Amino acid sequence: MRLTKLNHLLDRRTASGRCPDGKQHYWVASGEVRATAGNNIAVYVRCNNCSVRETVWLTANEYKMQERIINSSLDEQNRSF
Ligand SMILES: [Zn+2]
Repeated sequence: MRLTKLNHLLDRRTASGRCPDGKQHYWVASGEVRATAGNNIAVYVRCNNCSVRETVWLTANEYKMQERIINSSLDEQNRSF
């Protein structure tokens, strides 16, 4: 099953980073979203190819705009397990 790619949420350097096998990282949501002080939201992502993990920091407004795609990424993965 093809998962929704969340590469656009990461900064360019991280988004275009490479897995150990030379492919481009394929970032998907990794299950947790956490609100923090200061109105920031931490979105945890992992590479669906090499499993490396990253944290994406979004403002509450940015998160609102991306919430649907983040949730659909999580839903897809729940369905495929
Ligand atoms: Zn990777």
